[in-house]
Amino acid sequence: MNVVDKVPNLLGFTPEQLTDHLTARGVDVPLDEARRVLAHAISLRPDSTERRRPVRASVLKAVADHTRLERLEVVERVTDPVDNFCKYLLRSPDGALTEAVRIPLHKEGCFTVCLSSQVGCAMGCAFCATGRLGLTRNLQAWEMVSAFKAVRDEAPGRVTGAVFMGQGEPFHNYDEVIQAARVLSNPCGGRIRMENITISTVGLVPQIRRYTREGHRFRLIVSLTSAVAERRRTLLPVAGRFPLTEVADAIREYALSRGERATVAWVVMGGLNTGDDEVAELKRLLSDVPLRINLIDVNESRPDGFVRASDEELSAFRDRLQVLGVPVVRRYSGGRERHAACGMLAATRFGEANSTART
Ligand code: SF4
Repeated sequence: MNVVDKVPNLLGFTPEQLTDHLTARGVDVPLDEARRVLAHAISLRPDSTERRRPVRASVLKAVADHTRLERLEVVERVTDPVDNFCKYLLRSPDGALTEAVRIPLHKEGCFTVCLSSQVGCAMGCAFCATGRLGLTRNLQAWEMVSAFKAVRDEAPGRVTGAVFMGQGEPFHNYDEVIQAARVLSNPCGGRIRMENITISTVGLVPQIRRYTREGHRFRLIVSLTSAVAERRRTLLPVAGRFPLTEVADAIREYALSRGERATVAWVVMGGLNTGDDEVAELKRLLSDVPLRINLIDVNESRPDGFVRASDEELSAFRDRLQVLGVPVVRRYSGGRERHAACGMLAATRFGEANSTART
C-alpha cells in the first residue's frame, strides 16, 4: 500500500474478499451480509429508492473494527458548456489531487466515468499534460472506486460505463486497477458490466501479456499512435523499452485469445502521423490481426506544438486505412473548454488550468 493505511478501505473489497478478510480476523460474516454492507457503501446511490436490506449490528461493528471508510473529497467540478463533459477534481486523505470526468453517452441520460489510475504519470507522452507532471504515486483501488462513486452519485442519469483513461498509465498500476475494475463490475459495487469497463494502455508489453493470460473480460485498448518505430519513440518514450514488434505480438496474442478484434487507439496529430508511411508500417505489423482503430484528435492547448489534423487530412487518413479492411472510428474527445479532454488532465483547478498545463 502506498498511503499510511494498515486497515484497508471498505471501498476496495468485493463481497467474497470482505468475508475472507473478516474471517481471517476471527469474524464469520455470511456472504449475503457482506453483499449488503458493500451495497450500502458502494452500489446504492444516496437517492436510490431501492430497499436497503438491514445488516446486523455485530456485523457493522466487525466491519468498522477491521476496515475503514474514507472517501475522496470533491474539490471542484466544472462542466464544459459545449458538450456537458464534467471534470471533477478530487482530493485523497493524504492531500493528493486527482481527476475524473463524467462523459455523456449518445444514449440519452447515460454516462460513463473516465477514471485516473495514478497521481500524475511516469510515461511522459509528448502530447499529454499529465505526462509533464511526472508520477507522484499510484492510486489504490478504493480511491478509484471512490472517484467513480463521487461522479456517479451526482450524475443526472445512469452511469453505465467506466474507462481508465484519466491520469496515469493503468498497467503501470496493474494490480490496483484490476482490483478496482473487479469492484466496479460487482453487483454490490459499481454495477457496471465488465465489457463496459475499458482499460487503456500505452503499450506495456509484459502487462498486456499478463492481462491476456489472466483472461479478464474488461475491454482493453492499446494506444499505438504511430506504427513508425522512430516516430513512436519520440511521441511515446515508453516505446524505447518495448519495440513495436513486441507490442504487435502482444496485441496479436490478445486478439487470438479472445477471438475478437483488438482495439488500438491513435492520437491523430496534424501533419505528423497520418501519412502513407504509417499505413504501410501498420499493415506490415498487424495486417494478420483483427483490429478496430479508434482515432482521437490530439488536444491543442499545450506548448508542444502538436495540432489537430484538418477534416480533409483526417478523412484522407481514414481512406488510406481502408486497405487494412478494419473498422476505423473517430472518437470524440470532449471537455476541451474545461481541460477535461484526453491528455489535458493536470490536476489543476479550472482557473489554473491554462497556466499549469503550459509549464
Ligand atoms: Fe500517461 Fe496516458 Fe498521458 Fe501517456 S497519455 S503521459 S500514459 S496519462
